[in-house]
Amino acid sequence: MKNIIMLGPPGAGKGTQAKFISKEFSIPHISTGDMLRDEMERKSELGRKVEEIVNSGKLVDDDLMVAIIKKRLTQPDVANGFILDGFPRTISQARALDKLLENIKKRVEFVLYVEVPEDILVQRLSARRVCPKCGRAYNVISNPPRDDNLCDVCHVPLVVRKDDKPETVRNRYRVYLDLTLPVIEYYRNRNVLFTIDGTLPVEKVKDMVLNILGGAE
Ligand code: AMP
Repeated sequence: MKNIIMLGPPGAGKGTQAKFISKEFSIPHISTGDMLRDEMERKSELGRKVEEIVNSGKLVDDDLMVAIIKKRLTQPDVANGFILDGFPRTISQARALDKLLENIKKRVEFVLYVEVPEDILVQRLSARRVCPKCGRAYNVISNPPRDDNLCDVCHVPLVVRKDDKPETVRNRYRVYLDLTLPVIEYYRNRNVLFTIDGTLPVEKVKDMVLNILGGAE
C-alpha cells in the first residue's frame, strides 16, 4: 500500500513529483487545488463559491475541504493507495484525515516534505506556466515546453495561474507558514516524515522520492 502525502510550500514542485509517483505506482494523484480549479472552470456552485478565496491565495474552509476529500476517498481507485497533493493544509484537516482514514482502515504511510527557501519559490512561481487541460506545470526558464508556450502533450496554449501573481504568492507563503508548517511537525512526530531538498533538479528530486518510496508493490 502506498498512502502518500506531499507537503511543502507553493512552488516546491509537489504537483510535478506527485504526477511521477502516480504513474510509477498506478495510484491516483489527488490534488485539491486541481479539483477546485476544475470546479471554477466549470462554474459549478462549488466553483463559484471558492473562486474569490482561491484567487486571493487564502484557504478554503476546513469543513468544506474535508467533505471534498471524504467523498474522493470513497472512490474505488484509492484501494491500492493515493497521493494527496495540497491536503491537509491545516492541523484541523490533518486530524480530520486521520479519522477518515481510520474509518476505512487505512493510514498515512509516507509524508514527503519538499523543502525550498522563499526567494527561490517566488522566482519559480513567476516563471510557472500550466496547461489548462492536463494541469502539467512548466517553468519558462528551467523547464520550458518544446514548442513556444504550448503543452508538450495537449498542444494547447499554457496559462499563468491567477494566484501566481507576486502579491498573491507572498500571501500564499504567509498562509503556508502560519497554517501548514505546523502540519509538518504533526507528521514529524509520527515518524512518517521524509524531507527532500526541493532546490535540486526535478530528476534528482524524483530519484530521491522513488528511493524513499521503494519499489512498486
Ligand atoms: P494549490 O494548487 O494546492 O496551490 O491550491 C490552490 C488554492 O486552492 C489554495 O491557495 C487554496 O485557496 C485552495 N486549496 C487547495 N487545497 C486546499 C486545502 N486543503 N485547504 C484549503 N484551501 C485549499
